[in-house]
Amino acid sequence: MKISSHQETTIDYPGKMGQILFVSGCNFKCGFCHNPELVEGKINEINLEALLKNINSKAKTGWYQGICISGGEPTIYSDLPGFARRLKDMGLSVKLDTNGSNPEMLRELLKEETIDYVAMDIKGPREKYHNIVNVNGNLKLENIDKSIRLVKLFPNYEFRTTILPDFTTEDIEKIGTWACFGRETDNTRREAYQKVNLYTLQQYNPKKTLDPQYGKLSPKPSREIFELKKIMDKYSEFVRVLV
Ligand code: SF4
Repeated sequence: MKISSHQETTIDYPGKMGQILFVSGCNFKCGFCHNPELVEGKINEINLEALLKNINSKAKTGWYQGICISGGEPTIYSDLPGFARRLKDMGLSVKLDTNGSNPEMLRELLKEETIDYVAMDIKGPREKYHNIVNVNGNLKLENIDKSIRLVKLFPNYEFRTTILPDFTTEDIEKIGTWACFGRETDNTRREAYQKVNLYTLQQYNPKKTLDPQYGKLSPKPSREIFELKKIMDKYSEFVRVLV
């Protein structure tokens, strides 16, 4: 694991005091990404053992209860399960933020029972995915399908979408359907599915984007995002809006 930065937080693991760790590197290149230095791996790597020692000392006093592993994309690191295990063995709850590109890693983490909470981004409707994540042939949409199914098996989970300026109500309808039903189109199968637990819709931030062109676009007005929330309400028990 290469961790570029970390900070204390009370919000990144809901209800728990701890740290958020930002790993370096990502296998997607979303133009709207507001962590370009992480994606491009331009930030210095911090000493992992020193970080773990510090976290452990605060876990022992009860000051820390949860750690959020974010990025960048943590699942690009094969040693993620072992790293999560070390945090878990400190008595901490562990949350993972992921882009859902690595279902095999999610399956392993599920089996190991080291992750208590997964937050997965769904970047857009299927037909726009390739354009949004911008990695040409290196995206398998089947992996996103698999990850959507797997994420729901973790003790706690949420899906998240950044509302891009060109998203339409139809796009949100498609994203909600995908999150809720997977790719199933058979209505009898659909009845077997339930609404997802929690969906976060977050405002697009034009400051410091990976693709400078995105920085020139205006975010949707907040009232439009709240209109989109009404669509997502059909697919999720609870929809959180971050504007
Ligand atoms: S927004 Fe996209 S490019 Fe940026 S860290 Fe997340 S998945 Fe990677």
